[in-house]
Amino acid sequence: MSKNFQVQLASFPKSIPRPNDFKLIETPIPDLSLDQVLCETLYLSLDPYMRSQIAGRHMSGSVGVNEPMIGETVSRVVMSESNDFKPGDIVRCFGGWQHYSAHNASALQMVADTIDPMSYALSILGMPGLTAYAGIIWQAEPKPGDVVVIPAAIGGVGATAGQLAKLKGCVVVGIAGSEEKCQYATEELSYDACINRKTENVSDRLKELCPDGINVFFDLVGGELLQTASEQLAIGARVILCGLMSEYNNSTRAAGPAPGLWIKARAIIYGLVVYDYEHRREEFLKNCIPYVKSGELKIREDITMGLETAPESFCRLMQGDNFGKALVRVGT
Ligand code: NAP
Repeated sequence: MSKNFQVQLASFPKSIPRPNDFKLIETPIPDLSLDQVLCETLYLSLDPYMRSQIAGRHMSGSVGVNEPMIGETVSRVVMSESNDFKPGDIVRCFGGWQHYSAHNASALQMVADTIDPMSYALSILGMPGLTAYAGIIWQAEPKPGDVVVIPAAIGGVGATAGQLAKLKGCVVVGIAGSEEKCQYATEELSYDACINRKTENVSDRLKELCPDGINVFFDLVGGELLQTASEQLAIGARVILCGLMSEYNNSTRAAGPAPGLWIKARAIIYGLVVYDYEHRREEFLKNCIPYVKSGELKIREDITMGLETAPESFCRLMQGDNFGKALVRVGT
């Protein structure tokens, strides 16, 4: 343990971020005060909300030029001035895009050894998994036979949501950005069908695949796909508004679907913010760990090696080129 490297924002991206919007710099390893803990980052989670933080429009805070990028990590405790943690403990924290970070002990959560591999604490058994569980299980409350449509179908949130809906006996249709992703959705994640949003007419395909309408639309992308799905809702449909992947790189907001489409369907519209479900994380883990262990819930992680790969990997995520939950292996 000699040097800390961190990734800072170098310039505000105008649309899709590019690797040179970021810079890798050497910084001192932080000193510890009483009740603080020094952590070494093992895995860093890359998430779409970071694009909104850079744009200064995310509820969790913002990142300015020459400031370190924020991010959730699985980290190893290397020094501790707290009675609650000891060197070697594996924790979840907001370590950021860097090798070492200091935290008040109260900001750390121990990663249980039932979460194996530990990277799952940032993917299927972490924030993206909790988001999917909250949206599908607690908000949409799907019934067997419900038709559930999920865009970004094989990503961190979408893959978990699709499999949870299948476990509830639903008919699940994914939407994804390539043939390879669609094949993965149907063959590995047990989606009943998957529409290639880049080569197929999504509206026509939804009409074919959901002739009686969509009962649950788990919206991870907003924009045109939200409009298209809203035109095909069944009576009593639930629409979970969770993400705006099609809009994060834009400086202006799309107008959104005409509310008349939702009125006609007597739809129930939910806004989902995962932080509201933090107090139910243990319940989510208790229910999902057995499915992960039995192989009924799977996740593909798109892991790149080394902190210096974080900018490029984040840029791939923000243009939809990730294949699974985007993570960086920072330390070993
Ligand atoms: P992800 O699905 O792993 O990656 C994003 C995916 O979005 C891309 O791989 C791409 O998949 C798709 N995409 C990109 N641009 C698109 C476009 N223009 N139109 C349609 N799809 C596009 O990311 P994630 O971490 O699981 O997050 C998914 C969504 O959930 C994001 O919008 C995120 O902000 C949101 N989220 C919300 C909460 C909350 O509390 N509300 C929490 C976590 C995540 P394809 O190429 O396969 O379409």
